[in-house]
Amino acid sequence: MTRPGSRSSEVEAALPMEDRPAIDATYLQDTLLTLLSIPSPSGYTDEVVHWVGEELSRLNISFELTRRGAIRARLMGHQSSPARAVVSHVDTLGAMVKNLKSNGRLEIVPIGHWSSRFAEGGRVTIFTDRGGAKRGTVLPLKASGHTFNEEIDTQPVSWDNVEVRTDDFCASADELLEHGFNIGDYVAFDPCPEVHNGFIVSRHLDNKAGVASMLAAAKAVVESGRKIPVQCHLLFTISEEVGTGASAILHGDVSEMVAVDNATPAPGQNSRERGVTISMKDQTGPFDYHLTHKLIDLCEQYGIPHQRDVFKYYRCDAASALEAGNDMRVALVCFGADASHGYERTHTQALVCLGELIAAYVDSPPTFPRDKKRLGPLDGFPRQPIELEPSHRFSAESATEDDAEPRVPDPARSSESPNRSE
Ligand SMILES: [Zn+2]
Repeated sequence: MTRPGSRSSEVEAALPMEDRPAIDATYLQDTLLTLLSIPSPSGYTDEVVHWVGEELSRLNISFELTRRGAIRARLMGHQSSPARAVVSHVDTLGAMVKNLKSNGRLEIVPIGHWSSRFAEGGRVTIFTDRGGAKRGTVLPLKASGHTFNEEIDTQPVSWDNVEVRTDDFCASADELLEHGFNIGDYVAFDPCPEVHNGFIVSRHLDNKAGVASMLAAAKAVVESGRKIPVQCHLLFTISEEVGTGASAILHGDVSEMVAVDNATPAPGQNSRERGVTISMKDQTGPFDYHLTHKLIDLCEQYGIPHQRDVFKYYRCDAASALEAGNDMRVALVCFGADASHGYERTHTQALVCLGELIAAYVDSPPTFPRDKKRLGPLDGFPRQPIELEPSHRFSAESATEDDAEPRVPDPARSSESPNRSE
């Protein structure tokens, strides 16, 4: 479906693919489960960086690391500029030990923004400096039903009202110290993944499911044997959950970037756990009109089920990249994660669709070849459609004739369902 101002004709002219990209669903799911098995709260991501790097090597994709471990891989193209990027983050939510309590429990604070409601009952690993990895359980302060009865249900939900009971005999702060615990220890929550009926239920699908979709897309592109039109950087950031993900990873040549992250199925939202969800806007502002519509066009061209959404309390790697001063087009494509930042759930079909869209995007021509230059003339600068459809054009004549009639668009003329299209 072509809309005014969209890139469809250019995409159709240059794309070599005729069918939907071949995503290996088994590889995608296995990759996701492996990623989930590696703890990686923001700030404690070295191991997952090693694994992703080794996986890129297995796929014959070259890469380099920033000092702190963000990964910039590269798929070579027929032309090197204007380069593009696809980005996802390997860090997850977690917690950190704030204090060793006199009762022998650990006080914790969250890493990233999430509710202690979803921490309660979680099994955790505490990474200590000298005692190795320790295990424990996050519990509300009033945890014993036989002792506190209904008070359990009336205590507030907050990080001040939970503590970690370690799997060690500790009854004092000194005993915690003796066992190796300390302020600043990282706390990783067991993801507890379960695959059932096509659903994947786990913590930290945000954003390990996005990383797995991206790797599956990269595998499809590599295995197709085709050289892509323009160079593409595959970026894996390590600090998205704390806001600085893509601030320092971008190559200066990158003119457009697609972020891959979770969508937010919830009442009032249009995200789903099936198909790709394309975000039009999040709390930091609208995504690039042209790049976003190009992605919608690719979905329509390849028959990839998709829907649009606008996110409320949400930011992603696109925001940190723009805030760092990068002048480029950004967009956001997502898998739906029900109960995001809680007990999350998505569906394999959504991840495969997302992989298909990423592969189709990587194999598409530049959105605007002129974007290879940072500055350019007005001539050739794209336009966003502003003309009314003929039936809605204002004229003095129609104003007098139709004054009493509201101008309602003709649904038959609409090119896309306002909400879902599958
Ligand atoms: Zn995320």
